[in-house]
This record gives sequence, C-alpha cells and structure tokens, in this order.
Amino acid sequence: MRLDKFLSHTGFGSRKEVKQLLKKKVVRVNDQVVKKGDYILNLNQDHISVNGETITYQEFIYLMLNKPAGYLSATEDNFQKTVIDLLQPEEQHFNPFPVGRLDKDTEGLLLLTNDGELAHFLLSPKKHVKKTYYAEVVGVMDLEDIERFKLGIVLEDGYKCLPAELQIIEQTDRTSKVLITVEEGKFHQVKRMVLACGKEVNYLKRQSMASLKLDETLKSGEYRPLDKEELDQLK
Ligand code: URA
Repeated sequence: MRLDKFLSHTGFGSRKEVKQLLKKKVVRVNDQVVKKGDYILNLNQDHISVNGETITYQEFIYLMLNKPAGYLSATEDNFQKTVIDLLQPEEQHFNPFPVGRLDKDTEGLLLLTNDGELAHFLLSPKKHVKKTYYAEVVGVMDLEDIERFKLGIVLEDGYKCLPAELQIIEQTDRTSKVLITVEEGKFHQVKRMVLACGKEVNYLKRQSMASLKLDETLKSGEYRPLDKEELDQLK
C-alpha cells in the first residue's frame, strides 16, 4: 500500500494533508524519514511512525448504526442520501458498506463494514441468520397470525416464507405493536408478511441481527464501532 494512502486510512487526513505531513519529515519507515507519498509499504514488515509514535494499520471497520428513516441502505446514490453520508470522512475512508438492506423508511440496527467475508456470512440464505424487528401495525394481529407466521406465511407472489416468530406486545382495538423475527431477507419481507395477514406495517425498526443488538443509547443517525465482545460473538 502507498504510504499516503496508509496515513490517510490511519487518521492523518486527506491526501493533501498527508502531503504536508510528509514534508515536515516526521514520518519514518523502519527508522528512515520518508517524504514521498508514493512510497510502497509492506504492511507485514514495515515499522511506521509519525512524530516517534508507532502507527498500526486497521484493515477492517465495523460500525453499528441506528439508521434513521429517509436514508437509503446503499453506498452511493445520485439523488438520495445514503447511510454512508451519515459517517465522518475518517470512517468513509475505509469504504464501508451496509450489511443487507433496510427500506428507506425503516429504522434501527444496520451494520456497516468493509469485511466482505463477514457480510457474506451474515447475508448467506443458508445461514438462517435471525433478524428481529419491532413493528407498529394498523390492524389487530391475533393468535391465528402467530400460527401463520410459525407455519410460514405465503406472500402475495406465492413465495412461502420460512417459519418466523410473531410476538404481540401491545394492542388497541385497531393497532398492534409486535416483534417479528425472521431468518431470511426477502425484499420488503416483514411488511409483506404482515400484509399477507391483511394488516399493514406503518413503522418498522430493526432491533437485532444474529447476536448483535441495537445499542439503545445510540440516537437515530448515531453510530459507534462494535466492541470486541460484539465482534467476537458475530464472527
Ligand atoms: N422487512 C421490511 O419489510 N423492510 C425492511 O426494511 C426490513 C425487513
């Protein structure tokens, strides 16, 4: 990897800022001052320091985002805001992407990473990774719906969902607050499952994915790195 890219990735700013830093002769590779940004590093061997402080390279980034409504689960879009727009340039440098998709109006837990292997594992249909959503529904979900979820809801296009869990938390005579746990990730899946029961989701928030639970101290739009325990459990 080029030295300027390395410094940029390790928090020393833009290419331009890194260039200025290099000019100051404070960057050393294996104890030799290096001023050239295009110097090629061997990350397995070289010792890099800035102002005498050793700099270690972090290849992967893992962020837990509390996604707000109004943002696309994508890395870029010509017209609309994406979840990547919520990150600071320091994190954007790592080229993270969302692991799976939440609809534009869905809120809650979204993992952002550049670790393709982990993303592949979590998204693989064969792995049956559980995702739990809190939903506010127009209509009264009942015991029959719980049973239909258990047996596998048939969507409007004929697709039969895997068995899923429906838990009713609260109800009025016209609305329901529920928790829904699914093991797959079809397009608009939760909304369509509820629709297949003749009711409609009007608010949806993901609470968990696999072992990862949304940190409720994160306000909408806030994010934080996963801690070691969360990451170890996920892998
Ligand atoms: N199911 C949906 O319908 N929408 C989401 O965003 C996630 C799951």
